[in-house]
Amino acid sequence: MVGDPSGTARRTAEQLAIVCVNMELIRRDLLTSSDGSDGPLEGLLAAVQADGQIADALEVLHAALRADGDALGLYGYADAGTGVRSLRPAGISGTSSGSYGGETAYVCPADRCARYWWPDGPASVPHCAISGAALRRERL
Ligand SMILES: [Zn+2]
Repeated sequence: MVGDPSGTARRTAEQLAIVCVNMELIRRDLLTSSDGSDGPLEGLLAAVQADGQIADALEVLHAALRADGDALGLYGYADAGTGVRSLRPAGISGTSSGSYGGETAYVCPADRCARYWWPDGPASVPHCAISGAALRRERL
């Protein structure tokens, strides 16, 4: 993402993270929408697998969700409480000797999305909905 002044790559990663966390909810909403099709979601997954136009596919999904009456589209799911909270906190790069040093967190196994998960007691590590693998452990 270095040399991406427009921030497109970061926005794509954040949108992917919202999908990653809320995949089943989004699929259900698509299937119960007026179109009744989860095609936009399948299109996104296909784009991810094929290393294709992920940003474009995200736009299609976003537009489909908006068309069904949710003005926020994808971002409406972030507000549901699982998306944004799971994103990598800004400025956590570890250059300061703050309290984050040496802590363990879990990140997207494919480094695709900005999803971020803090170990939560006995809760089992969540799986990335996009790659299907468990989130990868990372020391901060
Ligand atoms: Zn992911």
